[in-house]
Amino acid sequence: MKAWILETQAPIEERPLQLVELPDPHPGPGQIRIRVQACGVCRTDVHIAEGDLPLHKSPLILGHEIVGIVDEVGPGVTRFRLGQRAGVTWLNHACGECKFCRAGKENLCPQARFTGWDADGGYAEYTLVEADFALHLPEGRPFMELAPWMCPGVAGYRAFRLTGLGRGTRLGLYGFGPTAAYVLQVAHALGIEVYVVTRSEKNKDAARSLGAEWVGGYDDQMPVKLDGSIVFPPVGDLVSFALSQLDSNGRLVLGPVTMTPIVIDDFNLIWQERSIISLAHVTRQDGEAFVRLADDIGIKVNTEVYPFARVPEALIAVRHGQVKGNAVIQVAE
Ligand SMILES: [Zn+2]
Ligand SMILES: [Zn+2]
Repeated sequence: MKAWILETQAPIEERPLQLVELPDPHPGPGQIRIRVQACGVCRTDVHIAEGDLPLHKSPLILGHEIVGIVDEVGPGVTRFRLGQRAGVTWLNHACGECKFCRAGKENLCPQARFTGWDADGGYAEYTLVEADFALHLPEGRPFMELAPWMCPGVAGYRAFRLTGLGRGTRLGLYGFGPTAAYVLQVAHALGIEVYVVTRSEKNKDAARSLGAEWVGGYDDQMPVKLDGSIVFPPVGDLVSFALSQLDSNGRLVLGPVTMTPIVIDDFNLIWQERSIISLAHVTRQDGEAFVRLADDIGIKVNTEVYPFARVPEALIAVRHGQVKGNAVIQVAE
């Protein structure tokens, strides 16, 4: 099969990925082989390629927003049949036995493995995955749209769930990229008012068109107190700012994997049972629930499609924030 591999980390402009021919993989017990149709491009891929995250194996095939068709089934698999659609998210494996797995928090499993980091991912014609960790996907939606469901979609859904909000409440979103666009649509569909704070005029327009109740910049007066909020930019200074707009009992979810230092210099910002929680990865339950909901509400996805030959260019564009919406690699013709 053709695959893009990473052997040595380097700045993305130096094009650390190479296109090579590898033997076709075959599934072992419990695994399925997916003929990859599309794979979304994530900033995490850039972090791994450039060395912000350590390399866990070499060579490595990046890519953890994988959608495709099951074309080979390993011994003992009953969850998937040949020809069915399957998706793979960032969570590639969890032990199933530790206290976190048993509590439904397999995203926190100390033995968790991640797609396109610990295990080969989707910038290849085929990928192998444990059937138990693959998601069923709806028929009738283009693969190019389904690919970004696997990371920004599912992660946004988990961030939303961590706010604990339900119908009739008010959600604040700070920053408005692709992940926030999914959260807005999910919350809106569930009867929650969404208040969006973002700098970019383009993003303000996008938020309005997706049904935001109110859209403003960081200097505008938030018209209400919020019941829960999510901060997306990795900017620690936003934490105090977001807390100042949160109502009593409100929960603030921090979306990024890392942030600049957070300073909370006034106890009143967290008084009245306000809380802060970070988002770490996703569970299979998040994936299944999001896919069902996204299909039900017909979630809108903005994609910029790159042919398989142009994976390095897609990574460079993502690195520099030059992609409108979600970058997706079209792997199969
Ligand atoms: Zn991702
Ligand atoms: Zn575990």
